[in-house]
Amino acid sequence: MIKSKTLIEQVNEFYINKTTKIYAINEYYENLLNKNNNYINLLNEIGSLKFEIAKLEYEGKSEDNGLNTKLENLELEKYNIIKNSGYFDAVNSVIECKICKDKGVVNSKRCKCYNKRLTDVSLKYLGVTKRQNCSFIDANAKEIEKQKLLLSKYANNFPKVNIQNFVLVGNVGTGKTFLSRCVYSEILQKGYNAIFLTATELNNVFLKMHLGEVDRTVITDILLGCDFLVIDDLGTEPKYNNVTVEFLLSLISDRLDKNKPFIITTNLSLSEIKDRYNERLVSRLSGEKTAILPFKNKDLRIK
Ligand SMILES: [Zn+2]
Repeated sequence: MIKSKTLIEQVNEFYINKTTKIYAINEYYENLLNKNNNYINLLNEIGSLKFEIAKLEYEGKSEDNGLNTKLENLELEKYNIIKNSGYFDAVNSVIECKICKDKGVVNSKRCKCYNKRLTDVSLKYLGVTKRQNCSFIDANAKEIEKQKLLLSKYANNFPKVNIQNFVLVGNVGTGKTFLSRCVYSEILQKGYNAIFLTATELNNVFLKMHLGEVDRTVITDILLGCDFLVIDDLGTEPKYNNVTVEFLLSLISDRLDKNKPFIITTNLSLSEIKDRYNERLVSRLSGEKTAILPFKNKDLRIK
């Protein structure tokens, strides 16, 4: 079995390394600047000026000797010395994300760059390539206008959505996969950790899990932990005993219980899903959190 660090640990390691690098740069330039007499004198001058201003404020006297202007000028001088030392350039050459400054966290939430890294390592672990971006702008067939409206609103409002999950049901070529990829692309671009798998790819992952070829906890982290999951073309995958039905039902049930949104596309009707998988799966997909969205139009690929 492939032993693996959890993916979170892998991603966290990146940020720990960055922090260490930035810390080393800070230390180097601090030492450098502390040897600069102009800089040290400036720090002292700024310190005593601040003290003077605070004292005046404390005594309730208004500051009328231009001390604040003097302070501003000294701060500017200090800034220029730091800039000329090369400190900012050194730090900026290391920092990749301008939003979180490579901390991985913004306002105590994961930064977009963190989720992007998590998605990338997840896909790598699953052995799946990243899907190309699709845009709702290109979904201009009149036949799927209603579905497009509903799903683009869903992607737009994500994760604050009324209906949490969708099952897109209809024949081949009716635009289900395309629209689900549009939703997936938009959610990814918003900075969420989103995974798009065909049912066959997912089924292969289930099989590897069953055979112990991949770390079960890592796979569970990916499939259950991701903010949004697409399972494309359910019903086209081969059916393995004790694997396909069981793992799928468990994944869907767990995501429903944890309020983790997903979209499934399928050529099967609900009764065909019942026949191929089981009644339990259909019953779980028929709950109030999930909407069945039919695609009844003709094949859009035939022009
Ligand atoms: Zn970031």
